[in-house]
Amino acid sequence: MKPLLRDINPTDWPALLAQQGFPSYRGRQLAHWLYARGAMSWDAMHNLPRDVRAALAAIYDASGARINERQSAPDGTRKLLLQMRDGQDCESVIIPMSRHATFCVSSQIGCAMACSFCATARGGLARNLSCGEIVEQVQILAADLAAAPFARHGERAYNVVFMGMGEPLDNFAAVAQAIRILTDPAGLGLSPQRIQISTSAPPHALEQLAAFELPVGLTISLGGTDDASRRKLMPVAGRAGVAAVLDAAARYADRVDRRATIAWILIAGQTDAPAQALQLAQLVARRPFKVNLIPLNRLDQSVLTAPSRERILAFQRVLIDAGIPAFIRDSGGQDIDAACGQLRRRRLAKRDSSEAQSH
Ligand code: SF4
Repeated sequence: MKPLLRDINPTDWPALLAQQGFPSYRGRQLAHWLYARGAMSWDAMHNLPRDVRAALAAIYDASGARINERQSAPDGTRKLLLQMRDGQDCESVIIPMSRHATFCVSSQIGCAMACSFCATARGGLARNLSCGEIVEQVQILAADLAAAPFARHGERAYNVVFMGMGEPLDNFAAVAQAIRILTDPAGLGLSPQRIQISTSAPPHALEQLAAFELPVGLTISLGGTDDASRRKLMPVAGRAGVAAVLDAAARYADRVDRRATIAWILIAGQTDAPAQALQLAQLVARRPFKVNLIPLNRLDQSVLTAPSRERILAFQRVLIDAGIPAFIRDSGGQDIDAACGQLRRRRLAKRDSSEAQSH
């Protein structure tokens, strides 16, 4: 596949076009089309001369995704299934919050981390997304939101969380470059405060993030309060032990001066015991953390379920009584394939069965 225009940093375009013998201001014009205007085709950039477009089209593709399916839930959550140039499916979600929308974007097609509670894990890792594919996801979601904004939002501001398919720190070069473009004033000009990386914290991943220059938010999925229980639910990421992960997260939070979030998935009979809540409280007390409690989104044919509401509230109560800020985060869109990777898996299954029927 050719690189995408959005794989390139917007401020590099003037020099790149000058190298090809075109005036450098054409590079600024191109970046304006890509980010201020959201152009997704060569035809859309109509004031860019034909010879410039032809020279660029020999090297780059103007866009790399199209919307293949769109689901909306009664709570407003919209899930988009994007078809990439190689036929792979990528999930991206728009979640209505109280004052803004949150875009949940993918960093990989599939995932290698094999977390037991996750639909994306079931097919393994297909491939990494490129920087341009990640940036384009955000722009596709922004265009979708602009076309149909949530009624109660006076503005169109959005946050971006890397919480879709894939482990962002397993594809960090592309994710980091995408964040640079999202925050560059010549790109989308988002504040780093509006961006959050959510990671299962596989070994060495947080060291990569520690060297990153932009103060984005950090969410760590812990999975267990000791190494053995973390590894049971998260066999790959769990090779990084609980203490090492929390120490690295605390160092990062101190450096960026922004509290990190510890995400705790609540699974009935596995991670919902009051004793675990107490252990979790002891681990996070007096550290720059808050806790998000995430009741499991049930997967097809899985024996794992979310705990009852009473049990969820009891778990939260233990944390709050211990002085820990703890919030219940129900994932939106319960009526659509809300669990990360579920919509993609359903489409793959449909495709496989129609292929089987035609053989
Ligand atoms: S929960 Fe995240 S890290 Fe774990 S398998 Fe799913 S996508 Fe990968």
